Amino acid sequence: MNIRVGILTAPDIRWEQRPEGVLLHDVRIGIGFHWDRTEDQLFEGTMEIRDNGDGTKTAINTLDVEDYLTSVITSEMAATSNIELLKAHAVISRSWVLRPMWGETASLKDASGEGWCDTPDRHMVWYERDTHVGYDVCADDHCQRYEGITRRDEHPEAAKRVKEAVDATRGVVLVDPTDNNAICDTRFYKCCGGRTEEFETVWAPRHYRYLLSVECPYCNTNDARVLSQVLNNYDRETQDFYRWTVRYTAEELAAIIREMSGIDFGEIEALRPVKRGPSGRIYELEIVGSKHRMIVGKELEIRKWLSKTCLYSSAFEVEREETDFVLRGKGWGHGVGMCQIGAAVMADQGYTYEQILAYYYTNAQLKKIV
Ligand SMILES: [Zn+2]
Ligand SMILES: [Zn+2]
Repeated sequence: MNIRVGILTAPDIRWEQRPEGVLLHDVRIGIGFHWDRTEDQLFEGTMEIRDNGDGTKTAINTLDVEDYLTSVITSEMAATSNIELLKAHAVISRSWVLRPMWGETASLKDASGEGWCDTPDRHMVWYERDTHVGYDVCADDHCQRYEGITRRDEHPEAAKRVKEAVDATRGVVLVDPTDNNAICDTRFYKCCGGRTEEFETVWAPRHYRYLLSVECPYCNTNDARVLSQVLNNYDRETQDFYRWTVRYTAEELAAIIREMSGIDFGEIEALRPVKRGPSGRIYELEIVGSKHRMIVGKELEIRKWLSKTCLYSSAFEVEREETDFVLRGKGWGHGVGMCQIGAAVMADQGYTYEQILAYYYTNAQLKKIV
């Protein structure tokens, strides 16, 4: 089975044929996040440069799903990763990518879904993956980070272990036995901060039996040996994600919110958490300014509006110190499904990939489908 991956869209795409594949220049990764940068990347399979007719072109790479998975997981993981962690990752990445291709969630037209709204006093939006036209997934963190064979060639040992994990779980996905064995929506992220989140507080108001909020006693770790299994080089620039603090002067905060939201709130008088999910992630935040007041959500929009590089999570408390705003937060990412750092710690403690998946995707079952 093949998958089509949109690598980048730009006015001009520079590429060259190399003996080992197609080299694309200036591929931007981590768009809008703190690890945003460009690099050259190498790809196998076929590469099509599509003219979008609007002055831009898109590079689309077509390749076998299992090869895609090997690459995706090699990007996320390190050569030292525990094999059970890699197997867990192989299963959730495969489930995630096969689910829409099997027609299970093509209905995620959530941009117009119930609860989505954009009015002067209420801006409640979330981001889904059905925004791609002409390809299945993009190569950035919006879908799953995919860097072709760039990492594989830089880290042959990691790629070998990942391939072993992909092969050992070939065709295996997580399914929901209460929903005709539909492939599960296997979300994941870096660190829950102590408790995982539910689907409906982050995306559409829909409840999944296998995406329940569970306590996670695993991700509170400073063990560099374990962390390095999940955080590759540029991710390791990020420290202190289990508990973190961001401090702004009132002027800085007003300027950031104005820039990121496009709305002039005047002086910011208060940030008031209105609704939180079970992990503590805020999904409705009231911004009270001297000129304007509104409620913003859900979690990703809050993270985007309150930082130029996206806050680690929306699970934070707001404190005032003198005139400063201090955000004391926990976790990194949306918190729904598998906590990658928690899973790395579990694997390190001797849990199998079946046990890790059963922990974060309560009630889901493993099934070989292809
Ligand atoms: Zn995408
Ligand atoms: Zn966790």
